[in-house]
Amino acid sequence: MDFKTYTTDVVVVGGGGAACRAAIEVSEKGLNSIMLDKGRPGRSGATPCALWSIQAPFGPRGRDERDTPEQYFEDMVNAGRFIGDQNITEIVAFTACDRILDMERYGVHFKKYDDGRFFQTPMPGQTYPRSCFMIENGQHMSTVLAKEVSRRDNIEVFKDFFVFDLLKNGEAVVGVLGMDLLSGELVAIHAKSTVMATGGYTSLWGFSDNPPTLTGDGVAMAYLAGADIVDLEFNQYYGTDVLWPPSVKGSVVLYELMIDEFADGEITDKDGNIIIEKPLPIRDEAIKIIYDTIRAGKGTPHGGVYFDTTLSPKGEAAVRDVFKTMTPKHYQFLIDAAGIDLAKEPLEVGPASHYQCGGIYINERGESSVEGLYACGECAGNFQGANRLAGSALCDTQTTGAQVGGCSADDAKKRDILPADKSDLEGKKELVNMFLSNKDKGTRPVFVKEEILKTMDKHIAPFRNAEGMKKGLSIIESLKGELENIAVPDIKRYNFELEEALEARLMAEAAQITFGSAMFRKESRGHHNREDYPETDNQNWRCHTIVKQVDGKPDYSKRDVIYTRMKPQD
Ligand SMILES: Cc1cc2nc3c(=O)[nH]c(=O)nc-3n(C[C@H](O)[C@H](O)[C@H](O)COP(=O)(O)OP(=O)(O)OC[C@H]3O[C@@H](n4cnc5c(N)ncnc54)[C@H](O)[C@@H]3O)c2cc1C
Repeated sequence: MDFKTYTTDVVVVGGGGAACRAAIEVSEKGLNSIMLDKGRPGRSGATPCALWSIQAPFGPRGRDERDTPEQYFEDMVNAGRFIGDQNITEIVAFTACDRILDMERYGVHFKKYDDGRFFQTPMPGQTYPRSCFMIENGQHMSTVLAKEVSRRDNIEVFKDFFVFDLLKNGEAVVGVLGMDLLSGELVAIHAKSTVMATGGYTSLWGFSDNPPTLTGDGVAMAYLAGADIVDLEFNQYYGTDVLWPPSVKGSVVLYELMIDEFADGEITDKDGNIIIEKPLPIRDEAIKIIYDTIRAGKGTPHGGVYFDTTLSPKGEAAVRDVFKTMTPKHYQFLIDAAGIDLAKEPLEVGPASHYQCGGIYINERGESSVEGLYACGECAGNFQGANRLAGSALCDTQTTGAQVGGCSADDAKKRDILPADKSDLEGKKELVNMFLSNKDKGTRPVFVKEEILKTMDKHIAPFRNAEGMKKGLSIIESLKGELENIAVPDIKRYNFELEEALEARLMAEAAQITFGSAMFRKESRGHHNREDYPETDNQNWRCHTIVKQVDGKPDYSKRDVIYTRMKPQD
């Protein structure tokens, strides 16, 4: 089995908001790129699932003239519990408006006031209302960005293309290895710069509101290539995903819509007691209240809390209008799929895995700790911190996407294409051959994947402790051993089982270092709640957790957070 090869200036892995924006910026710099997506750009990843909310501090050009990039920066730092590197947070806060204007130029429609200012909604943690309103949500944004990509001759897109490893030349990353699902060919893409924009690891957990394809591949590949990975213990759970009935399980309903400007409903326990006071807290606090209610035995029949708009003083018709205006498709989906009218009856909701706050460690240019490798969007770490604000994730895709696309292109101009290490390539061929030729063995990849999801749900939930995580880690380690027994059919076209086998390998790596990072941090902060270390310990833990592969094993250490404008005050 041989690799088909391509060469390009910059290879971008992913097809979501960050990948598209990075590729557009490379194109603006006059360089060629190849964008690789295991799904289809415009339809894959979390970006098409997102709602209307994208933060940008437009100030007088938006809803509240007092808002500024400085204020956005401060809100992000506070929400991140002082664990975000501020050199990168600055890029997000100070370039957000320009990136939204780019999106508008590409064709994204934003709701505006009659005088042309951006319509903006308030969200918890925003000092001033800052969420711009994208008409038709993340789906529209994704389609427009993918279309902008397709307009540019110097961006080549490979869809249904699964990347499973990075090419190395000595210590440097010099491209990627992947599988073209349509032809079944193994493909090596040699590039001067390699950008990871693979989204989050959220679907390492069984109960997630993200697409099942988001399994932390980028983080795992970067880790295996020797890059520093940061703060994986901070998986953001969203507190109000539908638990029941099964036909709509996992759909997100926004607790942020419970503010008095919108539905003005309540989140309650099984007896109808209001559990979240207004003004609504930001997400890490909301999740703690919801989880504490459930753990205290005050949960609903299916183990959640109630999302109850019938308690709104506004009345049914006004509440219905809110849902029809703010989240029309979600509102209608619940009616069509489950016969549930959110304006009329309480809904059982609970915490689901939602967003990866940590990821690949980068500097303000998006460079990882390995030469030639960059990251942007959700798969990049160290700038959100321990928690993120509503509406800042989509903003990150555009701000970090543009920044990293530009810097990776500038660097590509100074580099040559380098060959990949031969022994490394041979090793990858053997790996694929092993899965294809394991005829006498019988582990199905889906078994390994399902066990990983169950283990994450059980042992690294929003609240975790050393004993549970130790058990979880040992299950993951034994699943890693099971990988060599995986057998898949030897077919060419759309060999999904082979894809799943290679994905299971990456998932096991990502799961292992997530457990390890959470065991390493012995305090509670943001979305990392240790039952055995319930306090926040600024003295010892206001720092990053770094994991790096050393001699084939994860090695954990602390690293100082970069503070530029806002030092923490004890
Ligand atoms: C239900 C929901 C609602 C949300 N609402 C909002 C909101 O209103 N506002 C907000 O700011 N944020 C929101 N978010 C978060 C936000 O959508 C994401 O953080 C953001 O879209 C991530 O963009 P990305 O480009 O980094 O990754 P994604 O959009 O997730 O894209 C990742 C891409 O990488 C590809 N990929 C992954 N692995 C591989 C591989 N091995 N080989 C090839 N390709 C690969 C995927 O196919 C995909 O194309 C929401 C998320 C969800 C799930």
